Amino acid sequence: MARSVLVLNSGSSSLKYAVIEPDSETMVIDGIVERIGEGQVGDHAEALQTAFAQMAEAGRGLDALDLVAVGHRVVHGGPDFYEPTLVDDALVARIDELSPLAPLHNPPALLGIEEARKALPDLPHVAVFDTAFFHDLPAAAATYAIDRDIAEQWHIRRYGFHGTSHQYVSEQAAAFLGVPLDSVRQIVLHLGNGASASAIVGGRPVDTSMGLTPMEGLVMGTRSGDIDPGLMFYLWRTANMKVDDIEEMLNRRSGVRGLGGEVDFRVLHQCINDGDASAQLAYDVYIHRLRKYIGAYLALLGGADIITFTAGVGENDAAVRRDALRGMAPLGIELDEMLNASPDKKARRISADRSGTTVLVVPTDEELAIARACTNLIEH
Ligand code: ADP
Repeated sequence: MARSVLVLNSGSSSLKYAVIEPDSETMVIDGIVERIGEGQVGDHAEALQTAFAQMAEAGRGLDALDLVAVGHRVVHGGPDFYEPTLVDDALVARIDELSPLAPLHNPPALLGIEEARKALPDLPHVAVFDTAFFHDLPAAAATYAIDRDIAEQWHIRRYGFHGTSHQYVSEQAAAFLGVPLDSVRQIVLHLGNGASASAIVGGRPVDTSMGLTPMEGLVMGTRSGDIDPGLMFYLWRTANMKVDDIEEMLNRRSGVRGLGGEVDFRVLHQCINDGDASAQLAYDVYIHRLRKYIGAYLALLGGADIITFTAGVGENDAAVRRDALRGMAPLGIELDEMLNASPDKKARRISADRSGTTVLVVPTDEELAIARACTNLIEH
């Protein structure tokens, strides 16, 4: 039996799990328990037991595995945590203290950690932070131009998220092309339900689109991305909206769903084909913002050697990739239409031979990256 790592990604209403054999880099099993708190699965404790039951049904029960660690995705590491860290009571207390920075993400992650520690008390549990890769963002990129004392007192900076994915994908991209990571300027576009962009030089991020929270930047499935902060004061003062309602609106009823009524790009495209003007507007706003970030990062980097698309939309939606880079031949960026349209699932080049910038699609694998981080930590 090869040793394996259980990776848990615990959200407010879902628990994603995966078992990875880090030595062979194979995924033994993965799955998701959804609708936590809506009936059948009452809470995170039951969700974890449901996950174990699903694994057993598939012949991958706990007794059939040589688990050596449990890796937990934690969205916000705040100012203190960026290395993968062994979970103990003190770490749990600190993540709890960080919850105001990530009210939608850290509390459910903590529930997942607590339940998993109870269920698997003899294994090391490792927290891997989504903010980690961006910990050393240059000060010019990490700093908001606001009152310095307030920023310091309240730990306000641009933290960045999806770091595990941006790091993994940028490493994979360089390896795929057989070029040293430290020699290339990259833009990574992680386009899933959440979406973020990063600019990376020599394997180190120089900017990223998410900030203090995962709300800044690109238009997302249900989140607004960049807005004028004045919008919030206006809603609060003039429309008499409460702060929780404004947050809920910007997080859950904005983005592609807020504009077009749909969150899934496959459905969005169907609506556009059926002549739905709001779906078209949602798509146009999404693409417009994406192009703005690509342009900004090209300027920061002085041009990119590699642009990589990843995550659900980035890996699968050829139209988004085409429209994101349309008309950029003068900047040395040209897709090959045939390669871009291929439904291939593996890492692949989609740019034309004459394109100065190589454009890639690279599937992200946050679970594998978390499993690797776990074994690195417990071995050293
Ligand atoms: P998460 O942020 O939840 O990890 P994913 O990276 O899995 O999200 O992305 C999910 C999104 O990917 C879906 O909401 C959908 O919009 C998009 N998606 C998935 N498959 C396709 C596809 N074949 N074509 C276009 N979009 C897709």
